[in-house]
Amino acid sequence: FESTKYPKKNEQPVLIDGISGRVITFGGLIELVEKITAGLQHELNFKPGETVAIFSPNQVIVTDHFNSILYRHVWSCRGRYGRNIWAVRYCNIHMTIFFIGGTVALVNGAYNENELQYHLQEADATVLFCHEDNISTALKAADKAEIPRNRVLLFGDKVVNGVKPYTSVLVGKRRAKHIKYSAEEAKTATAYLPFSSGTTGTAKGVMLTHSNITANVLQFTEVELQRIDLKQEKIIGVLPFYHVFGLTCLLQAPLYWGVPVITLPRFELTSFCTAMQSHRITIGILVPPILILLAKHPDVGKYDFSSLREIICGAAPLSAQLARDVSSRLGGTVVKQGYGMSETSPVATMEETHDVLEGCVGILLPSMEAKIIDDNGNEVGNNERGELWMKGPNIMLGYTKRKEETANTVDRDGYLHSGDVAIRDDNGRFYIVDRIKELIKYKGLQVAPAELESLLLKHSKIIDCAVIGVHSEEKGTELPRAYVVVPEDVPRNEKTAQEIQDYVIKSVVDYKKLRGGIVFLDAIPKLASGKILRRVLRDRAANEAVIK
Ligand code: AMP
Repeated sequence: FESTKYPKKNEQPVLIDGISGRVITFGGLIELVEKITAGLQHELNFKPGETVAIFSPNQVIVTDHFNSILYRHVWSCRGRYGRNIWAVRYCNIHMTIFFIGGTVALVNGAYNENELQYHLQEADATVLFCHEDNISTALKAADKAEIPRNRVLLFGDKVVNGVKPYTSVLVGKRRAKHIKYSAEEAKTATAYLPFSSGTTGTAKGVMLTHSNITANVLQFTEVELQRIDLKQEKIIGVLPFYHVFGLTCLLQAPLYWGVPVITLPRFELTSFCTAMQSHRITIGILVPPILILLAKHPDVGKYDFSSLREIICGAAPLSAQLARDVSSRLGGTVVKQGYGMSETSPVATMEETHDVLEGCVGILLPSMEAKIIDDNGNEVGNNERGELWMKGPNIMLGYTKRKEETANTVDRDGYLHSGDVAIRDDNGRFYIVDRIKELIKYKGLQVAPAELESLLLKHSKIIDCAVIGVHSEEKGTELPRAYVVVPEDVPRNEKTAQEIQDYVIKSVVDYKKLRGGIVFLDAIPKLASGKILRRVLRDRAANEAVIK
C-alpha cells in the first residue's frame, strides 16, 4: 500500500493545517504513529482490545512552541524531512490505536462532565486524550469513570494541571509491536465506537469493526473515484472527527487515496473561506448548515471558490432549493448528496457526479443490498415509500452492551432497520423522505429525545414531556422542541419556559439546547401503552405558538 500510493512518502502531504499552512507528510505521520504506538505499549502497558477516548476539537498541528520530547524528535527529523514533519494529534492517535489493536471511542469535545462520564463508561475507555481547553472536565469525568490519572494525556507539548502531554510517551528507542488481524478477526475487532441513539432511547456505542471501516472506504472510493484526479484534489477537513462522517470520509478515505486534507479545528466562516481560497480546495465534504451560509452569507462573495469542483453533503437532509442556490452562487459547483448512519460506517448511498438529481441521495454503495418495507412489514416496489433496510459489509457489529437493542436494529438476515423512510426510483436511486425513528439532528449532530425527556422529567415543575425535532428552513437544520405538562399552579408563561431553558442549558452540551422552543400542553398525546405519539406532535408543530 505504502509503496504504490505513496512512492515518495516523505514528500507526500496528507494533512495540511488550514490556518498555518503547515504540512504533515505520509512518512512523517507513520513515523509519529510508530513512536506513539511504542510509547503507549511500553509506557502505559496498553493492550490490544483496550479503548481510548479522544475529547478534543479537530486538533491537527502543533504550534512552534516545542519544548518537549516531541520537539527533540521533530527537530532530529528536520534534516530528513525539512519542515514537513509536525505533530498530528487527532489523526495519529487514530492510526496509533489501529496499529495497536485498540478501539477509539468518539466523543464530542464540548461535552460536560456528566456527558463525558457516560460516554467513557459506556465505552469502557481506559485511556483519555484531552485538550488544554477542556482539561478540568476531562479530569473530573476520568476520575468518575475510574481512568487512572497517568492514563489521561494532553494534546500539546507541556504539562497542564499535572496532566502530561501525550508526547511524554514518545520516550525510549523500543519498537512498536503491530497487531495484524486476519480477515476473519477484522470482522469482530472494533476499531471505532461512535455513539448513536439508533431508532430509540439514549446514545449507544456503535461497534464499527476494522472490516466495516475498510469496506466503507473501498465502497465510497468505488463511487467517488470515478471523478477523483488524485494528483489535483484537495479536500477541506472542517467536519468534526468525533463524528464518523468526518472520520471515514476525511481521515480514512483521503489517506487511502493519497489526497491531502486541509484541516480546520472547527467551522468558522472567515477561516473556512480563507482556507478554501488560499489552498484552492477542490472537494468540500460538508453538512447542510454550512451550505446555508455558502448560499446566503454576504461575505462568501468576497472569496474565490473557483477551484471548488464538488460538494458532497451528508449527515442530514439537504433541500433541493439550497443545493441549487449554493451551486449557482459558487459558479456551477456540483452539489451532491450522500446518505448514511453511524451504524453504516457511515456511507450507505451516494450520488454519482454525472447523475445528480434534486432531493436524491444517490445509489446504494457496492456490496450493499436494500429493501423498503411498509408498515405491515411487506417489501414495497419502486417509487413507493417505506422504511429503508440495508445489508452489507459496512453494517455495524452491534451496540456495545446492548444485545436487545442490537437485535431490534439488525435482523437475523443481517438487515439494518434504518428508521428512515425512503423511496427507490426505477434507476435504483434513493430519496430519503421522512424519519420514523425518534432521532433529532441538529446541524448533523444527534440529539436523542429520550435523553432530553429524562432530563426534563427531573425538573420539579414538569409532570410530563416529549421532545421532537422541528425543521427550520432558515437555519437549515432541525431544532429540538419540548412539549411540557406543568402542574396547575405553575404559570404557563415565558418565565417558566426560561427557567426550563436555563435548566437544560446548565445540564447538556450547547447543541442539545431546546432551540425549537417550549410548548405547554394539557397532556402529551400517547398510545395506551404509554408510547409518545410523536407524529401527532410533529403534525401540530408547524402552526403553534412557541415560547423560546
Ligand atoms: P448519524 O448516525 O449521526 O450519522 O445519523 C444518521 C441519520 O442522519 C440517518 O439515519 C438519517 O436520519 C440522517 N441522515 C443522514 N444523511 C442524510 C441525508 N442525506 N438525508 C436525510 N437524512 C440523512
